[in-house]
Amino acid sequence: MKRILSVVLAVVMAFAVMVPGFAAAGNCTCGETPTVYVAALGSGSVILDEGTENERVLFRPETEDILKILLPVVPAAVQLVATKDYDKFGDVLIDCVNEAFGMLALDGDGNSDPRVTSEQFHPDTAEHGGDRSYYFGYDFRMDPVETARKLHAYLDEVAELTGHDDVKIRASSMGGVVMMSYIRLYGTKNIETIIFQNCPLLGTAVAGELFNGLFEINKDALVRYAECALPALEMDFLSAVLYALVEALDAAGVFDALLGMVDGLIVNLKDRVFDECLIPIFGTLPGIWSFVPDEYYESGKEFMKLDPTTQAGLIAKLDFYHYEVQGKAEQLLRGAQADGTNIYIVAGYNMQRTPLVSAYMETSDGTVDTKYASCGATCDPIGSQLPEDYTQARFNDIDYISPDRMIDASTCMLPECTWFVKDMLHSTTHDGHGVFYDTLFASEEQLTVFDMEEYPQFMQNDTINQTFYPVAELSNPIEDSFNMLETIPSFLNFAKLVTVVLETIVDFVFKNLVTAL
Ligand SMILES: [Zn+2]
Repeated sequence: MKRILSVVLAVVMAFAVMVPGFAAAGNCTCGETPTVYVAALGSGSVILDEGTENERVLFRPETEDILKILLPVVPAAVQLVATKDYDKFGDVLIDCVNEAFGMLALDGDGNSDPRVTSEQFHPDTAEHGGDRSYYFGYDFRMDPVETARKLHAYLDEVAELTGHDDVKIRASSMGGVVMMSYIRLYGTKNIETIIFQNCPLLGTAVAGELFNGLFEINKDALVRYAECALPALEMDFLSAVLYALVEALDAAGVFDALLGMVDGLIVNLKDRVFDECLIPIFGTLPGIWSFVPDEYYESGKEFMKLDPTTQAGLIAKLDFYHYEVQGKAEQLLRGAQADGTNIYIVAGYNMQRTPLVSAYMETSDGTVDTKYASCGATCDPIGSQLPEDYTQARFNDIDYISPDRMIDASTCMLPECTWFVKDMLHSTTHDGHGVFYDTLFASEEQLTVFDMEEYPQFMQNDTINQTFYPVAELSNPIEDSFNMLETIPSFLNFAKLVTVVLETIVDFVFKNLVTAL
């Protein structure tokens, strides 16, 4: 009897819990599906000793805290120049990095130290539709599959609050990694549309190469990296001045001299920095491991000295993401489409990637390689074009080669729903992106790159006028710069044209001088 009573009680309680959900779900008739933004790395703060007097934000740290922690590096660097004692400098540097980031490390099961907590996100309003978007952030260190479980709970809360069963998702950068894990765990039954913006769906070379110790700083790449970031300043005249300054310093050989010093540091301290900072801290974070592309993964596990006994739990998490999520990207995306979810992929290109690793020539959005964000495009190195005799790899009846001949999209997993934005800096958007995304969100049917004249597969980003143009064909550097200035009249593009002209003159004079001598 007691047993029956407890069963009845349990059923009643279960219904009591479920009823509000039933009552709320699907009862809003506004016709506007709520939008959820699955944010990028760093969206959720990671906090040490929260609620105590020692509370400190570990990520992203306040500039003030970073300066305080790095203060001892300055006298040590001065001493290094005088004594050339790299080991002594290394002691100070490594202590500082461990002080700043050491507590971020996860244990052998991929769990956080209990003293370190992270910001939790919950939808806080029932208002939806229009320009409104719910914001989902998370602790970037953790296994993206665990984060996907949190996202699932978050979407339930959104459904309850809004009275809509379905959502639309925009995932930015690492948000795409979380979203792919979500698809692997739950499918996309209640998701109408997903836009993946600059997401490392197949990884990013900077993570793969760092985790294989392929550390390298290239001067030209560093200069281009600085220059590529300038349009994001949204202060055109200042951008042009900074551009000219960087070019002048480069011509004067300043960067060569600086990098000579950095080279000394790399040669003398690389092994110690890996063994004493990178491996014990960043090598334990599944979030960072999810960025490692397949060709770097197994060798990376070896290089980062993952221990199959003491770190078995962590390795199981890494392997699940790598082989069951990243490794099944095509299956997951095509499966989502088959279940009626519209999938859109947006990748940036022609930006200089992080100039710290050997893969610095890969075209990218500055952070994620175009080939990985687009799930498989064939890309020529930055600044160069596919060879003249190159023919499109697949689907020869449809044109998938960019007008500037930098990209062949035919090798993408979803070539017909993958867009390429030239000169788009990683996760840096303007109103033009908003209008584009709204157009995609508004369509019930899956749109393709052939459906909208204003949004062709290859679009030139214009941060000044906050819009896009079709990518133009290329001829020679001067004419291309001139055309660019004509399309997007800005001080920055003017400075670029002047630089190209000057460089051409210098090259011409130099060549003739050499021939004459
Ligand atoms: Zn509604």
